[in-house]
Amino acid sequence: MAGQCKCLFSPRPNEWVKGKIIGSGSFGAVHLAMDKATGSLFVIKSAETEAGLLSLENESEILEDLDSPFIVKCIGKHVSREANGERNYNLFMEYMAGGSLADVAEKFGGALDEKIMLEKMGLKYLHKNGIVHSDLKCRNVLLGSLGNIKLADFGCAKRLIGLKNNKVTLQSCTCRGIGGTPLWMAPEVLRNEGLDFSADIWSLGCTVIEMATGRPPWDGDILNPMAKFFKIACSNELPEFPAHFSQEGLDFLKKCLERNPGKRCTVEKLLDHPFISGKKLKTTDSKDQGAHSPASVLDSGMYENDWDNSPGDPVDCNRGIPFLTRFCHFENNVSQNDRTNAETSDKWITVRAS
Ligand code: ATP
Repeated sequence: MAGQCKCLFSPRPNEWVKGKIIGSGSFGAVHLAMDKATGSLFVIKSAETEAGLLSLENESEILEDLDSPFIVKCIGKHVSREANGERNYNLFMEYMAGGSLADVAEKFGGALDEKIMLEKMGLKYLHKNGIVHSDLKCRNVLLGSLGNIKLADFGCAKRLIGLKNNKVTLQSCTCRGIGGTPLWMAPEVLRNEGLDFSADIWSLGCTVIEMATGRPPWDGDILNPMAKFFKIACSNELPEFPAHFSQEGLDFLKKCLERNPGKRCTVEKLLDHPFISGKKLKTTDSKDQGAHSPASVLDSGMYENDWDNSPGDPVDCNRGIPFLTRFCHFENNVSQNDRTNAETSDKWITVRAS
């Protein structure tokens, strides 16, 4: 079965060759590919697990409705069935030759111009079209060969379907639960209290810290993953702001990293912020500088291990497994050495609940 998203060109069956692997995510692998007739390059995202397959289906359904120069384009898909009945899912995407902002931030020590990146990131377009990305981080912002940037990885994205009791209701196309990468996730999302556009704004703040420092948010903090998740979800603390930031930059981060989602700024307002516009910040009441919302307790259901996960399974940090499973897994099965390794920046994974 072959399908098409809004496309630049669509690879025809058997007229393309799969090349080397250029990346991997929680859904599976990313390969470079070439259209044999035209020589055009594109990438193929392939799912290796059922959760990965759902994630790619979700990504395809979300991208079908989007058309922006700031959002990576899906150019087609191919679904086949193996002899054993298993589905084989391939999503064809435009090739972004410059890699991700995380690669660039790492190579150039976080010397990116955050303002330019934010203007071009496509988040305003996304929110205007009723989509919450849910997994904003430098690894999901890709660069073209000419320095153009596009938002990618819509495996966890959700679509707004309406308002209920003054709260937005979101619908994912395929994945039912909430996903994301814990260090970039908003406290209320980690507490499993729901998700709306404001969750992306928290992650945006975390991504700006990552761009500026070349390191993930909450880096160099407490090592135990469980304690770290509690700190993000339940304390009044914030990740460390970059020391070299101007007043404007610090104010921008404060507006993104507001613990109360109801008080968090919108993307429109943020794009008009002096940090982006270059205007001078008006002096504000200094009492406001450290204001945070009150702490809350974790949703008790959050730590119930109701996922079918045998204690003997190895910990694989590149697998798209539900957050709760990973959480409990760390506690039950990981040696001290593994825990320390799991803290390194490149080991933090996207978690997807299906
Ligand atoms: P996770 O799924 O755990 O969040 P991830 O965000 O890195 O991991 P993807 O962004 O979907 O997963 O893809 C993994 C890597 O593959 C990216 O970091 C990037 O280096 C590469 N990649 C993905 N899509 C493209 C693309 N369209 N063009 C070039 N490289 C890509």
